[in-house]
Amino acid sequence: MRINRFILKFSCLLLFCVFLYSGCGVMPVTKQREFLMGTVVDITVHNRDAAAAGKAVEEAFAEAKRLEGMLSIYRPDSEVTRVNRSAGKEAVRVSEETFYIIEKAVEFSVISGGAFDITVLPLVELWDFPDGGRVPSDEEISEALELAGYRGILLDREDSSVKLTREGMKIDLGAVAKGFVVDRMADILRGAGMSGALVNAGGDIYALGTSYSGGGWRVGLRHPREKQKIVDVFTLEGRAAATSGDYERYFTLDGERYSHIIDPVSGRPARGVMSATVLAETCMEADALATMLFVLGPEEAESIIQRFNAEAVIFKEGWEYGEEKRI
Ligand code: AMP
Ligand code: MG
Repeated sequence: MRINRFILKFSCLLLFCVFLYSGCGVMPVTKQREFLMGTVVDITVHNRDAAAAGKAVEEAFAEAKRLEGMLSIYRPDSEVTRVNRSAGKEAVRVSEETFYIIEKAVEFSVISGGAFDITVLPLVELWDFPDGGRVPSDEEISEALELAGYRGILLDREDSSVKLTREGMKIDLGAVAKGFVVDRMADILRGAGMSGALVNAGGDIYALGTSYSGGGWRVGLRHPREKQKIVDVFTLEGRAAATSGDYERYFTLDGERYSHIIDPVSGRPARGVMSATVLAETCMEADALATMLFVLGPEEAESIIQRFNAEAVIFKEGWEYGEEKRI
């Protein structure tokens, strides 16, 4: 048995292309790129006072780094790691931000009937996505499924504490935290009075105010398989976008593609969808909804999207340009 491993760390960057018009306005443009949260994060600011823009951008990145330190499962001292380490033992007091994200994640689980579930980490690890991928046995999947289930997350708002009820349970905010961080970065830029800014964390986008053209920010959506094909161009102004795709992180075995998003019912990689893109008021919502719709598919997407002021574009496996479901 031969395993072909492909981990396309930055491929999500390919998903959105941002159309920038330079040289046509008098306002200076400030750009900065950093590697954070496992991806490339770009900020583009369009503001009359370039010095103020530079300062605001620095502050936005500093905040993102602070949040990453609290939320990342790859940091041994993060709040999320402490919650996971204390599973089945004790409640862990966490910051307001971490508590808020976990609380919201549980709400998304309820809305999706469990398709979105931050307790899937033991399954993600079992399929070995961090290291390249393998197909586990049915017994292994059943055992890991015992450890999954958002109902095992106990939240105490008074105490700002989180407890995972069973030993071995683990949460991973990977499907939602990037969106939260992008929103926070946008808040900082807005608070600093920037007239226009685009924050793009590997395809998790928030567009603030106006771009170079004087209108909203134009963001192109690429086809999940044919990277040269732009299937849509959105004009975003005070709005967010995010995509979950089966090409972001996956491995193939005997011609079968196994993606990094787990269906919490089967304990196996979700199948049937190539990409789910969501536009929403906040990037956190867009991020969570995109992951959720990747699991649920277009048939169940409509009722969920209608609960939010959101829009979605979903490509099922094999769908060509023009066949996508738009809600
Ligand atoms: P995203 O790229 O935003 O769709 O998030 C995918 C990441 O979220 C994965 O790499 C996992 O760490 C985690 N994840 C996988 N499956 C789920 C799920 N069903 N619900 C919530 N998080 C998930
Ligand atoms: Mg997501």
